[in-house]
Amino acid sequence: MTEALPSAPDAVLVRYGELALKGGNRGMFERALVQNIRRALKPIARARVELRQGRIAIFPEGRTRQVARRVQDVFGIKTVSPAWRVPTEVEPILAMAGRVLDDAMASRPTDRPTTFRVRTRRADKRFPHTSTEFDCMVADHILPDPVARNVRIQLKDPELELGIELRDRETWLFCERLPGHGGLPVGTLGRVLTLLSGGIDSPVAAWMAMKRGCRVSYITYHSYPYIGEPSKKKVLDLARSLARWQQRARLYVTPFTEVQETIRDSAPEGYRTVLYRRMMQRIAAVVSRRDGYAALVTGESMGQVASQTLENMTCIGAASSMPVLRPLVAFDKEETIDIARKIGTFDLSAIPEPDCCTVFQPKSPVIHGRLEECLAAEAQFDVEGLVQRAIEGLEVITVEEE
Ligand code: ATP
Ligand code: MG
Repeated sequence: MTEALPSAPDAVLVRYGELALKGGNRGMFERALVQNIRRALKPIARARVELRQGRIAIFPEGRTRQVARRVQDVFGIKTVSPAWRVPTEVEPILAMAGRVLDDAMASRPTDRPTTFRVRTRRADKRFPHTSTEFDCMVADHILPDPVARNVRIQLKDPELELGIELRDRETWLFCERLPGHGGLPVGTLGRVLTLLSGGIDSPVAAWMAMKRGCRVSYITYHSYPYIGEPSKKKVLDLARSLARWQQRARLYVTPFTEVQETIRDSAPEGYRTVLYRRMMQRIAAVVSRRDGYAALVTGESMGQVASQTLENMTCIGAASSMPVLRPLVAFDKEETIDIARKIGTFDLSAIPEPDCCTVFQPKSPVIHGRLEECLAAEAQFDVEGLVQRAIEGLEVITVEEE
C-alpha cells in the first residue's frame, strides 16, 4: 500500500521558540532566522526557505536529513523535523502515516515493543475531525494489530511520536524532532568584538555571544617573533571552526610586540599581565568605535587565573569605556570545557601553542591589582602612541566556513 509513497522526507519543519516572545520585533527576528538558515544551507543544498504560520518550512532539492542536521546549528531554533507532505485530506494522510511509521520503526530496537503515540495539531480548524479523534483514527489505521508491529500505545512520554500538523492545504508528518540550540538569530542583537586567544575559554565565549543573537568579529594579539606563526594559525583555525555558527566573520590580528616590550621595560613586573590586558582592551575599544561594535566579549571567568580576580578584572575593564561582556564569568572550567567539546573547539584549543600572555610572564603576578598602580605605571610610557601604532599595523582577515 505504501510502495508508491516517497521513501525519504522531502521537507524540513523548523520550530522556533523564544522569537515569538519578542513582540514588535517578531517580524525582524523571523526574517533574520530565515536569512541565517539560507546562509547555513548554501554550501550543502539548494533549498527554498519560507515562513509559514509560525513555523519555517524548508524545501531542499534532496539531502533532506543532512539539511535538517545542518539547520540544528542555526541559533534561534527549538526543534527541527524532517517531514513528509500530503494534501490535507484523510486518505492521503492515513496512507502516509503508515509510511512514516515504517521509516521510524526501521531504526527502533526489535527485541522489545516501542512505546508510541500519534499527536495531531490542527492549524486548519475546518478539518472535519478534532485532534484527539484524528489521533485515534490514525493509530487504528496504521496499527490494526500493535503487537504484530512490536508497538505499544502509550500516551505519556512515548519513545516514538508521530506528529501530524494539519494546515490549510498541506499536512506535514514526522517522527523525528531534532533539538536546536535555542538562543536568538545571529545578528539580531547587534555586533560585538570578541578578544580571541588560542585558549579554551574565548572561543566558547564567542559562541555564547552568537547564541544570544550577537554578530561576532574577532580580535587577537600577536607578539612576533616571541610568538610564531603557528599560534596565529591556531587562532585563525579556531575562528574558522566557529564559522559553523556564523558563516562569515572578521578577524583582526594586532601586532602586540612593541606593547609588551614597552611594558616589560618600564612597568613593575607583577603588573605586566594586567597592563597587557588593559592595552588589549584599549585597542579593541578603538577598533570598536571605528568599525561599529557595541561591546567587547572576553573569556574571563571569575577567579580562574591570577589576572581574573575581581580586582584585576576591574582594573582591566576600566581601561576603556566599552561595555565588556563576560559570558563565562560564573562558569567552572569543567562547564566551559563541556561546551568547548560540544561545539568542536576543544581539540583545537588543546594544541599546545604559546600565547602572548606568556611572553615575559612575571614570576609572581599581582593578584589584587590596584587601578592607581596601573595608572602610575602607564604614566611612564606613551599609551596613545602604542595604541595608534597597533591600530596602524592591524591585519584584517575574512574568516569563512570551510
Ligand atoms: P582563554 O582560554 O580564552 O585564553 P584564559 O583562561 O587563558 O582564557 P587569559 O589568558 O587571562 O585567560 O585571558 C582572558 C581573556 O582575555 C581571554 O578569554 C580572551 O578573551 C582575552 N585574551 C587573552 N589573550 C589574548 C590574545 N592573545 N588575543 C586576544 N584575546 C586575548
Ligand atoms: Mg589564555
